[in-house]
Amino acid sequence: MDLRLKDKIAVVTGGTSGIGLATARLLLDEGAFVAICGRDRDRLANAVRDLRGGDRVLGVECDVRDAAAANAFADAVSRWAASHHNIRRVDLLVNNAGQGRVSTFADTTDEAWRDELDLKFFSQINPLRAFKADLAASADAAIVVVNSLLALQPEPHMVATAAARAGVQSLVKSLAREFAPRIRVNSILLGLVDSGQWQRRYEARTDGSQSREAWFAELAKSKGIPLGRLGDPVEAARAIVFLGSPAASYVTGASLEISGGVSRHI
Ligand code: NDP
Repeated sequence: MDLRLKDKIAVVTGGTSGIGLATARLLLDEGAFVAICGRDRDRLANAVRDLRGGDRVLGVECDVRDAAAANAFADAVSRWAASHHNIRRVDLLVNNAGQGRVSTFADTTDEAWRDELDLKFFSQINPLRAFKADLAASADAAIVVVNSLLALQPEPHMVATAAARAGVQSLVKSLAREFAPRIRVNSILLGLVDSGQWQRRYEARTDGSQSREAWFAELAKSKGIPLGRLGDPVEAARAIVFLGSPAASYVTGASLEISGGVSRHI
């Protein structure tokens, strides 16, 4: 199947690690021009180098919670697309940047609630506002929101993240209607994917003697994942790239679960 992504301009927030980096790589393989962002300068430089895309790749330092930084990212993308590729539009925005927060209601402070709601909502709102006009200039515009299965299946140990994730699903549905017919808006709902987040939790494990393989196998077992393992970032990336491509031209307001079968609702 031809995804028709050749020479499209794609933007991936949080493209320096895990799912975002895998998505950027896949988009490049499909012939797109790809702009990524992240907060950490060294991680950004390493990611751009790893992608080996030459001027097909742009890396910009940006914290997506900061509206001015998101606007500056969009300006940098516009300049790069126009001057290097003679293109004046953005075809795909992947809102992927972020991380989860492990905390129960009892140990989530007001400040933590505000911080989590700010991250989950403004990591969507700021890039949406910044890239909306350039997306509207595309005949195949799409937005893909990277969300979590927690939106539909909350877990008490991630109370604030789960509540915010549900709100983001609501936003996806509203935007799909408000932005139609010019811009499609879809989301993916992740279970557990072996990425930077889980690597950090593995590194902070209590039993330091446990191997990486054993730790992840135990995690998959304890979470009751029917496919028996965590997902690989590229397995999430494939879904993002499909939903963001013109091959999904009649799909909007939809959510695709990438969870190894862990969801239990109908
Ligand atoms: P990683 O930690 O590997 O990647 C996160 C990426 O986002 C990095 O590039 C990071 O770079 C960037 N980032 C984080 N915060 C910001 C910010 N405020 N502004 C700009 N960039 C930011 O994790 P994943 O690949 O797993 O995460 C991708 C998305 O998937 C996240 O939104 C995460 O919450 C979500 N998700 C992941 C799940 C999983 O099991 N892996 C499950 C459910 C959801 P830097 O730190 O340098 O800014």
